[in-house]
Amino acid sequence: MLAIRETGAEIVSLAPGEDNFGSGDDLGSWVTTLVKQNANAEKSKTVKTQTFRGVSQICENRAHHGPLPKFWETEGERYRKQAYCADPGKVADIYERVAKRESLSSIGRIYDMYPKGIKHLIRFSPNHTGVEECSYTDDIHGKLEWTHTVTPVVDSPLWWRANKVLDANLTDARGNKGGRPVAKPANWISGILDCPSCGGKLYVNDSLTPAGNPRTPKLRCSGTGKRRLSCGEFKGIDAQPVIDRISRIFTSATKTKILAFQRVTGNAHELEELKAGLRKIQARLSATEDDDALDALVAERKQVKARIDGFEIVPDTFDYAPTGQTVAERWNDGDDAEKRRFARAIKNAWGMILAERGGEWVITFMADKSAETRGAGDIVDLGDGLCFPRPAE
Ligand SMILES: [Zn+2]
Repeated sequence: MLAIRETGAEIVSLAPGEDNFGSGDDLGSWVTTLVKQNANAEKSKTVKTQTFRGVSQICENRAHHGPLPKFWETEGERYRKQAYCADPGKVADIYERVAKRESLSSIGRIYDMYPKGIKHLIRFSPNHTGVEECSYTDDIHGKLEWTHTVTPVVDSPLWWRANKVLDANLTDARGNKGGRPVAKPANWISGILDCPSCGGKLYVNDSLTPAGNPRTPKLRCSGTGKRRLSCGEFKGIDAQPVIDRISRIFTSATKTKILAFQRVTGNAHELEELKAGLRKIQARLSATEDDDALDALVAERKQVKARIDGFEIVPDTFDYAPTGQTVAERWNDGDDAEKRRFARAIKNAWGMILAERGGEWVITFMADKSAETRGAGDIVDLGDGLCFPRPAE
């Protein structure tokens, strides 16, 4: 307090209702404040000691202590709480969904959870190890560490697969790159084609006239990047013929199969699963006191270690396998975002451009099927491991 005073600052109480007494900078207020500070420090010490006594008991009982994810609950009396998964079916389902790269927000809608809560649940290692590592630290008593045994919910390979998806940030939600929300979804052709004059992007302008009548949708240049300014050279064309022309490419591809990128050989993932299994055994070793169970675990660890040591890695190879869906089916069922994905894919693969031919604007492709460009654009990559071969037009 002297140090504070030396800087020229005043010591003022922030507590309400102390405007008249004990809040000024006089000696009486000083004493009052000192006593209060001291009492606070004492109280915090007492609370810490009492908490530590409780936690020591929990530690001795090897009971649960700490935060739990959703679907996990505790039962039993104070200092002897047993943690358990209240709904293993739902937890296993969430693991499966994340492992299959379903987006966290769509899983969240099913289970009324936030993405953060789903991540917490997936990362919670007792789900596969059956061992919760508990600890408590304070500055007076130091650190306590103990293990609490629970019933595991999923097997190690599934736990590992789901966590790997989170680590790699691979869930389907990645499709949404953010940006401001739009009041009205734009047509899928918006922002796909380049302006023939300036190289900016063409957007559909189909707003209402000032009189409230619908306009004929037009494709107009809106420039590049943040400076959404039209170049003024490309005067705009009717959007519908362009939309029809591009749609026809997909709707007519009734025999072109959508293929999915799949692993056909390779076992490196099995090695990772074995290693996850080893971590589970190690976690259980620290939590087991029964001699027979310990022997069994040591034997199991030996076995898994031997399998890891003797593991021969077959390199991963990938190939495309049919998904059972055709380009036309997927296009027709697809929403605006999906159609945009198709349009963008053929633009990238075949160099789709808007060009003037004999006074008319047409859609044309730079990668034709002539000899020198054979191979280019033969496979259209839709992203997310999906593709299709170039259909015969
Ligand atoms: Zn332009």
